[in-house]
Amino acid sequence: MRETFRCPRCNRTLKRAGELCADGHTLPLDTFPCDECMGEFKIGASTFPTAFTFAVTPNGQILDGATGRPMER
Ligand SMILES: [Zn+2]
Repeated sequence: MRETFRCPRCNRTLKRAGELCADGHTLPLDTFPCDECMGEFKIGASTFPTAFTFAVTPNGQILDGATGRPMER
């Protein structure tokens, strides 16, 4: 478990927020939201701004919180 992690976009040190929910499942991964890096999510035809969120797996891989997919650094 990590308490802090650097944002892969802006390199700010972020504090752990909790667990990631993706596709209706809660993943037991450390999750970090960055309110400096806005992302967006879609409901139907509408797009809403939201804090960019990512999760970190135990082996250090970064997952995009919006898609649950691995991110490139
Ligand atoms: Zn950031």
